[in-house]
Amino acid sequence: MHCPFCSAEDTKVNDSRLVSEGDQVRRRRECMSCRERFTTYELAELIMPRVIKSDETREPFDEEKLRAGLLRALEKRPVSIDQIEDAISHIQHSLRATGEREMTSRMVGERVMSELRELDEVAYVRFASVYRSFQDLSEFRAELDRLEKKGSEKIRD
Ligand SMILES: [Zn+2]
Repeated sequence: MHCPFCSAEDTKVNDSRLVSEGDQVRRRRECMSCRERFTTYELAELIMPRVIKSDETREPFDEEKLRAGLLRALEKRPVSIDQIEDAISHIQHSLRATGEREMTSRMVGERVMSELRELDEVAYVRFASVYRSFQDLSEFRAELDRLEKKGSEKIRD
């Protein structure tokens, strides 16, 4: 990389070590032209895919929107904030792990639903009912019936 003092291209790495629990690499560099020393930090770039909405417009992935959606679905449910934060991390991790640069909002929604299903079935059905906007009513109805058969929860507010 270029020297920040004289812009020479030739810099040498004198030392390289992991910092902040191994998430970053700190390098001590020296410019071969002006002999100034400087430090660089290298950090893995974790980019969320952009979201393709149903009208084909794109928007950046919005973690706050995801959190708000989960909190709404999990209102008054016996799920801790730590579990919710874990779910948010899982969802984001799995979306990044696809390696896709763009994905449909439907794919994001499906991922959220499978996470919620693990976490709390009532929240899952709440989220699914809003998210799917009753597009596939029969599937939704089947899910409600399945939960009602289990009989342990009241699923309508
Ligand atoms: Zn220099």
